Amino acid sequence: VLEVVGLRKQFGDHTALDGIDLTVNEGEVVAILGPSGSGKSTLVRCIDQLETIDGGAMYLDGDLLGFEQGRTLRPLTDAGVRAQRRRMSMVFQQFNLFPHWTVLRNVTEAPIAVHGVPSAQAKEAARGLLEKVGLSDKADAYPRQLSGGQQQRVAIARAVAVEPRVLLFDEPTSALDPELIDEVLQTMKALAASGRTMVVVTHEMEFAREVADRCVFMAEGRVIEDRPADEFFRAPETDRLRSFLARSM
Ligand code: ATP
Ligand code: MG
Repeated sequence: VLEVVGLRKQFGDHTALDGIDLTVNEGEVVAILGPSGSGKSTLVRCIDQLETIDGGAMYLDGDLLGFEQGRTLRPLTDAGVRAQRRRMSMVFQQFNLFPHWTVLRNVTEAPIAVHGVPSAQAKEAARGLLEKVGLSDKADAYPRQLSGGQQQRVAIARAVAVEPRVLLFDEPTSALDPELIDEVLQTMKALAASGRTMVVVTHEMEFAREVADRCVFMAEGRVIEDRPADEFFRAPETDRLRSFLARSM
């Protein structure tokens, strides 16, 4: 589904991503782990085309991101980039719900306004999603009336509502009080079980071990290890990963 090849990203003279290769297959859940500053957020932001890139390439279902498909490599217009971005969804640490819209409208807005889904159909689908994330009774509430965990579950329902090819998560639980983390992880686990393709930046080791198919360890803008989750935790190959795991678990 998603292929990242030799991705490079500079911030001034700081190299945030130094040649990242990453393949995410249909239905796979890939966890991205690594110390602060290793480039995890930058990687998912580049994939979601929220950052310009300085080298390498990314493909979604074989389409080169950021460029017109065809024989000439012509950069996409803004509208073209938006069209590509619609095929992915990102869930952020800060849920970024629209405060003046109800939960239902937060979930239905993109399907209706961007994807042209008829309103009645979008609402029905949204109610189904809200039920899946355990919030069927909150459709008419406003974000401020919800707990952080509930808001993040709405944000997840909203991300899924556009039927993205890939769901990207950047530390979806790290802004939450500890007692609210589990409900969000359970929701993500259910999504994974339903066959969604997911890339999850997380510090939740248990979640990565239990739910991810593969774990990727990044440091200093590089992929240090990319292994099936069980091997990743059971038999890390590098000292760097070993000491990271020892510190994190
Ligand atoms: P954390 O675990 O703390 O979220 P991270 O792995 O997500 O860290 P990034 O946010 O991707 O790390 O940052 C990678 C590097 O790029 C860091 O050194 C950071 O300071 C730098 N960086 C990120 N965004 C910018 C920016 N907009 N301008 C300048 N430097 C940036
Ligand atoms: Mg980050």
